[in-house]
Amino acid sequence: MYDCIVIGSGFAGAVVAERMASAGKSVLILEKRNHIGGNCYDIEDEHGILIHQYGPHIFHTNNEEVYNYLSEFTEWYNYSHEVVAYLDGTYVPVPFNINTLRIVYGNEKARNLEEKLICEYGFGSRVPILKLRENKDADIRAIADFVYENIFLKYTMKQWGQKPEDIDPAVTGRVPVLVSKDNRYFQDKYQGMPLNGYTQIFDKMLSHPNITVRLNEDARNVFEFKENEILFEGKAFDGEIIYTGALDELFQCQYGRLPYRTLKFDFTYFDEDSYQPRAVVNYTVSEDFTRITEFKKLTGQEIKGTTIMKEYPMAYTGEEDQIPYYAIMNEENAQMYDKYVNIVSKYNNFHLLGRLAEYKYYNIDGIVEKALSLVKELVK
Ligand SMILES: Cc1cc2nc3c(=O)[nH]c(=O)nc-3n(C[C@H](O)[C@H](O)[C@H](O)COP(=O)(O)OP(=O)(O)OC[C@H]3O[C@@H](n4cnc5c(N)ncnc54)[C@H](O)[C@@H]3O)c2cc1C
Repeated sequence: MYDCIVIGSGFAGAVVAERMASAGKSVLILEKRNHIGGNCYDIEDEHGILIHQYGPHIFHTNNEEVYNYLSEFTEWYNYSHEVVAYLDGTYVPVPFNINTLRIVYGNEKARNLEEKLICEYGFGSRVPILKLRENKDADIRAIADFVYENIFLKYTMKQWGQKPEDIDPAVTGRVPVLVSKDNRYFQDKYQGMPLNGYTQIFDKMLSHPNITVRLNEDARNVFEFKENEILFEGKAFDGEIIYTGALDELFQCQYGRLPYRTLKFDFTYFDEDSYQPRAVVNYTVSEDFTRITEFKKLTGQEIKGTTIMKEYPMAYTGEEDQIPYYAIMNEENAQMYDKYVNIVSKYNNFHLLGRLAEYKYYNIDGIVEKALSLVKELVK
């Protein structure tokens, strides 16, 4: 028998498995897909281009412990993520900054606005548009309106399937304008891409001799939840169980299906060396898709030809070929989630971890941090 069973082999499951195995525990991983790595899985396509099968993933963190831990399994390609939005035939940096201001308003007017922004908020500041809207200067308020209309509104409607009136003013208000010329999307101390891809990180983590991985194995087929114990393949299992899948699906959605947004990814190969100016271009006013990723610009891979991917957000319905990506976090959904948590809270050896099991969004660094601290508790 195993000391510990981990369900799912994304970052949540892989970190727990690796740390438990390194602490001398024998670990079984059950993964329902035919590969490890969860949504961070990457693979070469038929043209030899390294693609991210489930959407572009850029590593960034200020957490030294997380960075040092992951660096045990990979070297890094020094990549600073810059995103542009496609607006009426031009590409402008997002989040909106002074460089964007110059493209949108032209040099002369932009210089004037720039002076006002610096004078009012200070160079280097990050100003939410809510604040800009409170300014007595009409020119500054107009910047907020421009950002709302051209960068935020349509993109958010596509991403979350919302109408303008559904969009929470508190969220809108937080959209930032950067009073700086720093085009980087993230300002974290560490950012980059794993030199040989994410899948290689997972391969290294899970190659520990104490770890057994079973692919194509859905946890729902092997666990039973009894009054006082959990059965694994028909026998009581009192080792630690770390579950990183969707909690509602584990219990046949008996209280209803937790709402998510899913994505359809459309990959296309071009026999050209470059498709677009940056790795990621957001379509904030036009098109049905939200963004296009050009992978070689993300990974630094030097190769002939290029593969791009368009992202189409839509409602998750639970169909076989869909993956729940973004939890829709509101009070009603949190209440439904809590009902599922109530079912499992009586089992001391059952732990919920990760973006699905906890029904919340984590960046990679956030979930690695959480997984590291869970294992510290478990092996105490
Ligand atoms: C489109 C998109 C882009 C993102 N970009 C970034 C980015 O640029 N930078 C960043 O830091 N973060 C990014 N993230 C977040 C990142 O994907 C998550 O932090 C990370 O995937 C969380 O890992 P996880 O292990 O919790 O979940 P997952 O990676 O989803 O892993 C869960 C695993 O559990 C398996 N599983 C589920 N149910 C079962 C079951 N019943 N039985 C067996 N196995 C099961 C699944 O198959 C899956 O392999 C992005 C997320 C999305 C959706």
